[in-house]
Amino acid sequence: MSRLLIMGPPGAGKGTQASTLAERIGGVHISTGDIFRENVSQQTELGRTAQRYMDAGEYVPDEVTNAMVRDRLAQGTTREAFVLDGYPRTLDQVETLDGILDELGVKLDGVVSLVVDTDEVVARLLKRAETSGRSDDTEDVVRHRQEVYRVETAPLLEVYSQRGLVREVDGLGEIDDVAERIDEALASLA
Ligand code: AMP
Repeated sequence: MSRLLIMGPPGAGKGTQASTLAERIGGVHISTGDIFRENVSQQTELGRTAQRYMDAGEYVPDEVTNAMVRDRLAQGTTREAFVLDGYPRTLDQVETLDGILDELGVKLDGVVSLVVDTDEVVARLLKRAETSGRSDDTEDVVRHRQEVYRVETAPLLEVYSQRGLVREVDGLGEIDDVAERIDEALASLA
């Protein structure tokens, strides 16, 4: 289990789980949201492009996101072990990722699907908004991001399910408990 995706609606706790999961598998945590945010704070050209989409709760265009992930996966030994967090989010990104991994001569081992109640995550995100300072944590944007996920990204789970790669994990509860469930779910894929 060394090449993994983690999926789930905004606020499901993907970032937290992806980060510790990457440590446990000895791999690299690649969060497209984090990379965009770093670029925004460093005011790079990529950051300027990404920011207006992020602020509106929209997806950054596929060609921008795909190019960024392609670069990131080709770095050093990343291809050997990674957890992709927040990518792919569209069918176009799924196809691009398939192509990138093919070129690198590696395959995905599994997809963790964090399952949470939408009302619960909206409440969680609104709480995060009080302290995060993230410009995409306002109520309208939070709700819009859930909708964009439902329409654009949730269908990707079907694609990966057909490949036999998806394991659903209950995302509610203590961080350590969820992590344990993820490890158990992945063990059943091995
Ligand atoms: P996240 O931290 O994963 O929730 O991502 C925050 C924001 O970054 C998203 O709402 C999008 O605007 C943008 N973003 C992150 N990953 C992607 C992606 N794979 N495709 C398009 N936009 C993305």
